Amino acid sequence: MPNRTRYFRIQSANPSSLYSPGVTVEIVITPGIPRHTVVGLAQGAVKESLDRIRAALGAAGYTFPRGAITVNLAPADTRKDGSAFDLPIALGILAADGQMRTDALQQAAWLIMGELTLDARVQPVEGVMPAILDARKEGVSNVILPRGNMPEASAFPGMHVGAVRCLKEAVDILEGAQAIQPITNLTQAPLPTTAPDFAIVIGQEACVRTLALAAAGSHNVLLTGPPGCGKTLMARCMEGILPSWSRSLALEATCLHSLRRPGMALLERRPFRRPHHSVSTAGLLGGGTPLRPGEVSLAHGGVLFLDELPEFHPGALEGLREPMEEGKVTLSRANGVEEYPSNFQLVAAMNPCPCGFADSPDRRCSCTDRRRKMYRARISGPLLDRIDMHIPVGRVDPARHIDRDPVSSSAWAQRVDRASTRLVEEPPVIDQTEEQVLIKTVASLGVSMRTVASIRRIAKTVAAFEEADRVQRDHMAEAIRIGGHSRLI
Ligand SMILES: [Zn+2]
Repeated sequence: MPNRTRYFRIQSANPSSLYSPGVTVEIVITPGIPRHTVVGLAQGAVKESLDRIRAALGAAGYTFPRGAITVNLAPADTRKDGSAFDLPIALGILAADGQMRTDALQQAAWLIMGELTLDARVQPVEGVMPAILDARKEGVSNVILPRGNMPEASAFPGMHVGAVRCLKEAVDILEGAQAIQPITNLTQAPLPTTAPDFAIVIGQEACVRTLALAAAGSHNVLLTGPPGCGKTLMARCMEGILPSWSRSLALEATCLHSLRRPGMALLERRPFRRPHHSVSTAGLLGGGTPLRPGEVSLAHGGVLFLDELPEFHPGALEGLREPMEEGKVTLSRANGVEEYPSNFQLVAAMNPCPCGFADSPDRRCSCTDRRRKMYRARISGPLLDRIDMHIPVGRVDPARHIDRDPVSSSAWAQRVDRASTRLVEEPPVIDQTEEQVLIKTVASLGVSMRTVASIRRIAKTVAAFEEADRVQRDHMAEAIRIGGHSRLI
């Protein structure tokens, strides 16, 4: 073995970082006392990587070099966690030690990520999609990834991706023994949605129309009604009518999913997340070590459905205010903060009281006044004020509605999509007369300025839904009816 200091450098990425994941892995092998260090704010799994690499190199038939090995992960001021640095560190050690040819690595820029097992297999890692996105911006077009991360790479036509199962395959690619092909544009037919169809909803025409309006204009919705009235069913049907989205928004949203779960293909449609009410505050808003996005970010560009709203942890509900106001969440981490986009549409459902039958014509509420008040107080005023549409849902006798011709989700979806496009491309205008009607009506309702702004937005959505260029009298009336309630449930 050469009695001199050896050095090599490889590009990798931080698996928990959304915006600037790029990390340079530097390896220095110096003769002398065996001593192995990883520097550059390495945490948990990263610190242990050299132990895994020692076993993996042995298993793949390579030698773990003698001497002192120092691994530096730059930039030094960001925390590195997770096991994605195993593969680049292992390849860097082989390259520095002269155990593999490095022409390919020196001629072009490569992004390399992957976790190693003790028997030298390569396991999928989180954060691959934001890493490729960032690397592509930096002009990198060659990537080596775990085979299990191929779905993320498929979103990047033109990139040369080596999806490997073991360390040896990665070495073969870098030594030119195995060629890699650029990704071709894979256009798959979208998978059918698993959402129930609005056609099976009986006798709730007004609610269904309001939900379709909400989907078109991305308005926040709260459905309130007794158990068994179909709130949950109707909310779930919304998944099937959400408007189409742009590729750039799909990419942004999938990057957030990629930070949570390896092997995520580009999302084909807007996400519809429905966390259970027992979800932790970190699970809903994001957090943990390593830092991971929460449900509010996984719902970015789509819907966050919270069924049984008052049952959620009060801290979690309060935490919804920031993303609902700003479209992002700010999470603190050991050295600073990380922001994740979380621009979602809130769809929530609740009973009017703990027993569920307050204000119900056919059954008596068995709750005390105090219990009812406490239940409603679990949802704070500021949160309620950020909900644009409060929809009361009554129970329906199915026998009375048997003759109705229901509208299917696919018919609603087309209308929602057209309206959503119109709202972006040529939003309907509100003229002076209708503005006067709005001001006069809301003055008598005594609602907040936020509510007035919300009614204006709903009115434009109604007009777009009716394919009108300007908000007409009946559009404004419908918007005031839907959005102009006193905001007290
Ligand atoms: Zn009750």
